[in-house]
Amino acid sequence: MDGRDKGRPDRLDWPPGSHRNGMSRPHRVHVKSFGCQMNVYDSHRMADTLAPAGYRETAEAADADLVILNTCHIREKAAEKVYSEIGRIRVLKEEAAAQGRRMVIAVAGCVAQAEGEEIIRRAGAVDLVVGSQNYHRLPGLLARVHAGEQIVDTEFPVDDKFDALAAPRPEAIASRGISAFVTVQEGCDKFCTFCVVPYTRGAEVSRPVEKIAAEVERLAEANVREVTLIGQNVNAYHGLGADGRPATLGKLLHRLAKVPGIVRLRYMTSHPRDMDDDLIAAHGDLPALMPYVHLPVQSGSDRILAAMNRRHTRQDYLDVIARLRATRADLAFTSDFIVGFPGESEDDFRATLTLVEEVGFATAYSFTYSPRPGTPAADMEDQVPDEEKSDRLQRLQAVITRQWRAFNGQFAGRTVEVLLEKPGKLPGQLVGRTPYLQAVQVMAPRLLIGSVVPVTITEIGTNTLFGALAEQPSTRELTAAGA
Ligand code: SAM
Ligand code: SF4
Repeated sequence: MDGRDKGRPDRLDWPPGSHRNGMSRPHRVHVKSFGCQMNVYDSHRMADTLAPAGYRETAEAADADLVILNTCHIREKAAEKVYSEIGRIRVLKEEAAAQGRRMVIAVAGCVAQAEGEEIIRRAGAVDLVVGSQNYHRLPGLLARVHAGEQIVDTEFPVDDKFDALAAPRPEAIASRGISAFVTVQEGCDKFCTFCVVPYTRGAEVSRPVEKIAAEVERLAEANVREVTLIGQNVNAYHGLGADGRPATLGKLLHRLAKVPGIVRLRYMTSHPRDMDDDLIAAHGDLPALMPYVHLPVQSGSDRILAAMNRRHTRQDYLDVIARLRATRADLAFTSDFIVGFPGESEDDFRATLTLVEEVGFATAYSFTYSPRPGTPAADMEDQVPDEEKSDRLQRLQAVITRQWRAFNGQFAGRTVEVLLEKPGKLPGQLVGRTPYLQAVQVMAPRLLIGSVVPVTITEIGTNTLFGALAEQPSTRELTAAGA
């Protein structure tokens, strides 16, 4: 930690609302998220935590008194993007300073956690580096920044971040739409040899069932209809249940399915080893649990899975898929793949291709292996040359794209349940999502936003489906939807 008075212009009063003539304006915070949905969730919680300290969110970094970059460290490119973004914000900060206004730059998230002091060394314009476990301390840290300190806070605290973070604000929930993410688990104890998460997010921690239920109830009261439970390793969830014993993710889903107003539940990201009986059974038992499962496998080769320390084989993965499919015939799967892991031969890579063919995914995310400093794989011999990695990525993506088109194609002429989310680009149009997260555009009255309606798919576009309401809503339904 380091405290230096930089002699910056500091017209911003601290604490907010302390302006001498009593005419203080709200402070404006701009939070930019990089990477996964957990970061989006954390960004919302940061904004909620800063709201009582007088901060209002702004979509424009140039207007902000505080810019928070909530970063991702999972691949090298993600980390480099942050440094170029800091460069862009530094220019805005200088422009603000020229107008006598102070802009504070904070770097949060996994890059902050992993690089700490290095960020301030590389980018002196940064005032605050705050690790992913310490967001609840933001108001206090900002007060110290305004008192002249430049701070790096990346300790893993003993206090419970979730208890200390502010609850979502009703007005903020409403502006964020009818679908929300809720972090139920953080960190990871698996230590896959390519992954930084166990180092940047720390050990696995689960939130208690009733605290999550209370958050979901608040979301439902503010008209949220769909909740996605998130965690780096979400199905390792083992939070305290109402009976005082650790609950499984399956049990948590059963509890949340009872919350009035919540019509869709999802969860991500899962590890194949943690797909237990409760969770598998929940797919058969809970109509609200969407039949769309993201289950990363990374590779189809047992040799590479062992080198990755995934702790499961290709066959284990296929068995889990088969058990899940047995619960519901309409289940569809997505996955994550890494190509070019150290030592991956052409035969290993082909095993990945055959696994993709064997499972048949709705879609999948695929990445070239990116060595992360401090992880075991970064020091392995036999690193695969970049051209080879890119070639394999293209070949894998060709197969995944073909499967994705085939998956979407089968919806032509079918009637599917669509949760209507928001107005579309055209007048009278709404946009919603199928159980498989496909976007659907449909002409429908605005009052139906937040309702699940049957839609007949008339056309398959590149990134969206087009459809028509299968049933015209009655006046009674419209009134109920608007009530
Ligand atoms: N917990 C999940 C699991 O067990 O697969 C993965 C979460 S990780 C945050 C998201 C994805 O990023 C991984 O599934 C993996 O495909 C990718 N990823 C992680 N580290 C990577 C690396 N070093 N290089 C390339 N991709 C990586
Ligand atoms: Fe990373 Fe997922 Fe492996 Fe944990 S289980 S180390 S988050 S890839």
